[in-house]
Amino acid sequence: MSSLWPAGPRRVLVVGIDGVRLDLLPELHTPHLDSVAAAGFLAPVEVDEATPTMSGPCWATIATGVTVAKHGVFGNHFGGNRLDVFPDFTTRLAAVHRRRTFAVGGWEPLFLARQGGPLFAAPGRLAYIAPLADTPEDWEVCDERATAEAVAVLTGDDDPQASFVYLGAVDETAHFLGCGEEYRRSIETADARLGRLLAALRARPGYAEEAWTVIVVTDHGHVDQGGHGGRSALERTAWVAACGPGLLPGGEVLPVRHVDVAAHVYAALEIVPDPHWTLDGRPFTPASAAAPATSS
Ligand SMILES: [Zn+2]
Repeated sequence: MSSLWPAGPRRVLVVGIDGVRLDLLPELHTPHLDSVAAAGFLAPVEVDEATPTMSGPCWATIATGVTVAKHGVFGNHFGGNRLDVFPDFTTRLAAVHRRRTFAVGGWEPLFLARQGGPLFAAPGRLAYIAPLADTPEDWEVCDERATAEAVAVLTGDDDPQASFVYLGAVDETAHFLGCGEEYRRSIETADARLGRLLAALRARPGYAEEAWTVIVVTDHGHVDQGGHGGRSALERTAWVAACGPGLLPGGEVLPVRHVDVAAHVYAALEIVPDPHWTLDGRPFTPASAAAPATSS
């Protein structure tokens, strides 16, 4: 299977889209997410019992690879966190492994020293794009600018080895307008932005030789009228889609958790986690890899 991917430099792009309900995806036009799923997988993720179905704790788990018991982010105020001990992957890769990393988005506690943040403390390059106001319209503008910034960085001289791009308009739309038509259109708009990010990778001069892992992930769902934080199936059901080295096109994977995202980022860059990091996640694993080998 190794022949499916170039032997050249490893690269990882993680795209986080806030608050996308899994149950609605089959009805929506999301060709770019579909392309990632077809090249790898799209799997449900259940937010575990100890984790409030809120963006703060869920993104902290996704970015650090440890649960709330370790990173200590229990809500959308990040105060009292232990992110200095359990850093996000862009910070750890930059500090420990001297990798070029990049993070961009518009939600303050992820990127700024506000509300007890930031989660993404010290990537090699950081871009915060402020929404003018917390409205669906202003968040669409914010996400548009974050996408443009990411396209520029991904096709520029920085050549980040691991990147995180945050898109927040979908979640904001659900909070304002519920999970109706506007919410569905916002998910499709986010997918179009994902498409521009994927096109940026393909436009890189060295793309043919590079081995890219792409991970698309949401943090939580929403109830029909918009809102989350509870334990209903709609709120606690998130999802991850990914493709790249080690993953099989259209293949089944073993159950995926949010803590597995950062673990997979390290694996995709061929970095063996130090046991002292005490990661709670493991790389995404094709189900076939866990079964006894039957042939070839
Ligand atoms: Zn929300």
